[in-house]
Amino acid sequence: MKTETEGLILTDTAVGESDRLVTVLTRDSGIIRGFVRGAKNLKNLNFASTQPFSYSQLSIYKGKTSYVIDESRLIRSFYNVQFDLQRLALAQYMCELAVRNIPENVYSSEILDLMLNCLHVLTATDKPAGLVKTVFEIRFAVLSGSMPDILYCSGCGKYDSETMFFEYEKNRLLCSDCVREEQTVCMLSRGAVTAFRYIALAEPKKIFSFTLSDTSLRQLSDCAEKYILSLSDTRFRTLDYYKQIQAFT
Ligand SMILES: [Zn+2]
Repeated sequence: MKTETEGLILTDTAVGESDRLVTVLTRDSGIIRGFVRGAKNLKNLNFASTQPFSYSQLSIYKGKTSYVIDESRLIRSFYNVQFDLQRLALAQYMCELAVRNIPENVYSSEILDLMLNCLHVLTATDKPAGLVKTVFEIRFAVLSGSMPDILYCSGCGKYDSETMFFEYEKNRLLCSDCVREEQTVCMLSRGAVTAFRYIALAEPKKIFSFTLSDTSLRQLSDCAEKYILSLSDTRFRTLDYYKQIQAFT
């Protein structure tokens, strides 16, 4: 059976003398691992289009035990994300989140577009990596079915307040009157709450169309990371690496 789809190559591993095994986030079939025959060879027609961070049109053949990518055509390469260590580390973390959370054979068009949008911003604009990470984490949670419950205080229904608190493990927002000392929360300024709501609800193409002060961005970044980590039960090796790099920059 042969499938034609678009996909973003996330990782690759050499196999044997000349083949490679790649992990792809496809538009129509979720995450797929497939062999690319002869693609270790620079002259191979599939070489550029099956490198990590290549977005390509793929022809995927399903054999008895594995997938084989037998034809591919490059649509856009984000290879230049590798020229900046911090941006590369972030892109690898985005890939790990996708690989761990998206199964095979599910329609993944919206998450693929989110990855492409974030890679575009990382490689073609000077928006800080930390901001891209925060937007990615919030939208990834939304698209994975875990919309943050951040419209009103879950205690009294208050919408607007100088400071609010997000109890990330329970996915609820609290105002300063309703928050209790024993709750594990992230503090959010009014600006951070507004941006949180905006990112979660904006149209896909407008997710980066907001401004935020450095202090509020720090609060929201901390909150988004804790929320995404609370949704999975494992550590992310790539996130640890991203943080090591960030500590040196
Ligand atoms: Zn309240």
